[in-house]
Amino acid sequence: MGNICKKCVSDKSIISLKLDKNGICQFCKIHEEMEKEYPLNENSFSNLLKICEKIKLDGKKKKYDCIVGVSGGKDSSYLLYLVKKKLNLRPLAVHYDNGFDSDASVSNILKVCEKLDIDLETKVADWEKFKSITKAFFKAGVSDPDTPTDVGIFKTMYEIAYKENINYVFNGHSFRTEGIEPLDWTYMDGLYVKDINKKFGEGNLKNFDNFVLSDLIKYNFLRGIKTILPLNYIKYEEKEVIETLQKNFDWVNYGGHHYESLLTKFVVSYYLPNKFGIDRRRTGLSALVRSGQIQRSKALEILERPPILNDENELKNYILDKLDLNGDEFDKIMKMQNRNFRNFQTYYKYFKHFKIFANLFYKLGVIPKILYLRYFGDKT
Ligand SMILES: [Zn+2]
Repeated sequence: MGNICKKCVSDKSIISLKLDKNGICQFCKIHEEMEKEYPLNENSFSNLLKICEKIKLDGKKKKYDCIVGVSGGKDSSYLLYLVKKKLNLRPLAVHYDNGFDSDASVSNILKVCEKLDIDLETKVADWEKFKSITKAFFKAGVSDPDTPTDVGIFKTMYEIAYKENINYVFNGHSFRTEGIEPLDWTYMDGLYVKDINKKFGEGNLKNFDNFVLSDLIKYNFLRGIKTILPLNYIKYEEKEVIETLQKNFDWVNYGGHHYESLLTKFVVSYYLPNKFGIDRRRTGLSALVRSGQIQRSKALEILERPPILNDENELKNYILDKLDLNGDEFDKIMKMQNRNFRNFQTYYKYFKHFKIFANLFYKLGVIPKILYLRYFGDKT
């Protein structure tokens, strides 16, 4: 038994890594399952078009066909282009502003929406509340202080879809390029946010866009809002995508993956490597290896060098300042015991009782397969 998957580059920095007798990890198996669901062949694009015909029919008397969440990053920017130009849908772009957007990301969003003539709705998070919850995640010593952001984005998309009577939320995730983020690294659930806030936060969660069980029932099961992942149906290659975006929208490439948010940039390139020994590039590189877009040896070579951060001190000071954390408090956080969602109250322990329902909802298209496999794949 080794410490690294023989097929991809997932290693023991993922606590729950499981290698089978051939040395293959559970994420490679999820990838195979996804390949079965979304095979790339001459029918892939027409399958996507068929889904879009249904969406168009459903949106006939409405102002919009679907919601597309945008961050200014390459995936969501390209998704807007695809949805409008190639799929001929009428999207409403939705952005969640948590106060950490980089200038490049904001200008990317505006340029793409303007050029494609797409309406944009921005939800600005209640800053004081958002700050206190994000700070609580750092104080808890967990590996996913960007979970409040992800939860906020998730809630906002459904909230606006509900309000605008839209039944489809489009998501720019591609399992072939982004891969499957281990739950040990990033975990998202409303009860987790509640528990961390209770133990390390200040005040209640009233003004925070939390996503709890009642939201799941309201948006997903009662209203039946569905998530569509169009990038899984197309050949999605980073180089071509960036070229298309730069040529059509004067889109600015800000460097690392998910660097559109300064908070995420700080988390992935400073906080996680230094405190946890986690290099989140491993997830994306593993995906690229599995889908044959990069050689495994090349991925390993990239991982030997830490993420590039030219403005480390400047970025660190900016984040601490913005979160009202002083240097001593942050040093304490960096030295404290490492934790993750397993140390807190979450819905996770109930999941095994819900597996049968989750499977049904995935089959009905209410939850995407990747989510089902990510959260339930391990539960037997
Ligand atoms: Zn693997």
